[in-house]
Amino acid sequence: MKHLTLKPSSTGAPTKHHTSIPSSLPSAKETKVHPTNAPSASTNASLFFVGTATTIIEWSGLRILTDPNFLHAGDHVHLGPGVGATRQTNPAVDLEDLPRIDVIFLSHYHEDHFDREVEDKLTRDIPIITTPHAHKCLTSKGEESFTNVHALDTWETMVLDIETEGSSKKCPSVKISGMPGKHVPPGPLNVANEILGAVPPTNGWMIELGYSNQAAATKSESKDEDDSFENGYRIYISGDTLMVDELKEIPERYKDQNIDLMLVHLGGTTIPGPKMPLLMVTMDAVQGVQLMQLVDPDLTIPIHYDDYDVFMSPLDDFKKKVKEAGLEDKVVYLERKDQYKFSVREGKA
Ligand SMILES: [Zn+2]
Repeated sequence: MKHLTLKPSSTGAPTKHHTSIPSSLPSAKETKVHPTNAPSASTNASLFFVGTATTIIEWSGLRILTDPNFLHAGDHVHLGPGVGATRQTNPAVDLEDLPRIDVIFLSHYHEDHFDREVEDKLTRDIPIITTPHAHKCLTSKGEESFTNVHALDTWETMVLDIETEGSSKKCPSVKISGMPGKHVPPGPLNVANEILGAVPPTNGWMIELGYSNQAAATKSESKDEDDSFENGYRIYISGDTLMVDELKEIPERYKDQNIDLMLVHLGGTTIPGPKMPLLMVTMDAVQGVQLMQLVDPDLTIPIHYDDYDVFMSPLDDFKKKVKEAGLEDKVVYLERKDQYKFSVREGKA
């Protein structure tokens, strides 16, 4: 299993353009917790919703940024040959106002997930975990190449060890695994897409926040390293995918492991665009509810739902379908700048 050590205390500004580094995120507009199993007094972690699929997870001194997209309303993105979109919303925080970021999880190399400004402005050595395709793109930019990019393919896992002050045997760790994702349905369209390279390969993620006993892991090489990791909170992020057969393997693989939270990329993204809706490449309301039923997480938070004019399935559609399916108590809705607080368990659950 791949390992990467993160040193939050030594991380610098996330962009080349920071004049000063704020010590924290802006105050959330509203704070939400799990309706049934996270009393607010015991929360030790949070997820801040910036917009699109951009979120910031904070836990144990670590700050994780997902799919950084900091464009503003009216800005354009190029999504493939002849395919573009216009942003409709503003991010909850600006790129230059971000506090320290320790690692970026990028689901795929597409401008509504990693826009050109982000690509130009981020510091080159910021750790990025992403698909093999995006890895290739980000590391083959000559002098502008990113220097700390790590590729994870479907079902591959990487453990991020967080270096903290003091030498406790039990260290906070993050285990991240690539989950399957398919932007384009199988069949002739997929063949066409592979030739055109219009829509890049995409990952979902399983992110496990927990603790690893590093002493045990290094002592016995023969021992399965998994033994030294204790999960405390499991988050599944769908990435930009349709409801495809490959996703069925997720609940099979995690049969005996509880999925605490699912972030689902909705929007029913339809290309080439609103005037010519030909091909849907992300889940709409119906598929989002099907995914909830398939993965069965304790709680679902929809993201990536109204930020571009190619997102054709509004959040209200999803709310309606959730209600019809009787799953209302399993969903928390966040607006941009809202945060969700939760509790990472310590010790074996
Ligand atoms: Zn997208």
